[in-house]
Amino acid sequence: MVFKKLLLSVCAVATLSVAAADDALARDKLRVGTEPTFAPFEFMDTQTREFVGYDIDLIRAVADKAGYDIEVVNMGFDALIPALGMGVVDVVAAGVTITEERSKRVDFTAPYYTAGLSMLVRKEDAAKYPDFKSLENQAIAVQIGTTGADKAKDIPGAKVTNYNATSEAFMALTSRNAEAVVHDRPVLAYFMKTQPRMSQSLQLQPAIEDAQQYGFAVKKGNKELLDKLNKGLEAVRQAGEDKQIYSKWFAQ
Ligand code: GLN
Repeated sequence: MVFKKLLLSVCAVATLSVAAADDALARDKLRVGTEPTFAPFEFMDTQTREFVGYDIDLIRAVADKAGYDIEVVNMGFDALIPALGMGVVDVVAAGVTITEERSKRVDFTAPYYTAGLSMLVRKEDAAKYPDFKSLENQAIAVQIGTTGADKAKDIPGAKVTNYNATSEAFMALTSRNAEAVVHDRPVLAYFMKTQPRMSQSLQLQPAIEDAQQYGFAVKKGNKELLDKLNKGLEAVRQAGEDKQIYSKWFAQ
């Protein structure tokens, strides 16, 4: 009897220490959905084939504070919100603008970035298309499901083509299948800066509309995870890590 008790407690200790070792090695993983054609927020590093960018670094830091590792899941931008609803991913980190309409379908963390919409045109057309109004009745390329797509749809007479990837919208412009691309300004600016060969015939117009804030999204009603992420974001800010991540991706 005594022996049996002893054996039981040895087993219990053994189980406990295995669990402890496991904890130290592997933490729970948050499945993070993204659409990686939105540099510098999320894109594929051409050398390492890893997901990189401001959002990726930030959500990794936030998740870390909340005690999680992350696993990035690649999907179309228009599939991200449905994927949260179906439980395919836990969080979406994809430069997602917090809108009233989306807030009915998902819950957003506190905002982490403010951007606006701008337009890219061919240099030769810069005087012809100075602002959004001048795009009336014109062909406009956008990324499917984005706020840029909504904006373009509202321009009277515009013929809007939705592309799966940001890069495809850029190509539509250079190949004269569209007169303009309407998208988030920091992404247009990053393209102009980092892809001189592809963007040399293009111009980013100064017009900016609709100041928009990005948030990370979780499934509607997942208050537990939302609270953890908001606390994590706060802790990242307290530690100044958000500033480091910002200068890594937005330094001049
Ligand atoms: N911020 C824009 C939106 O939420 C675009 C995001 C994106 O293309 N990744 O619609």
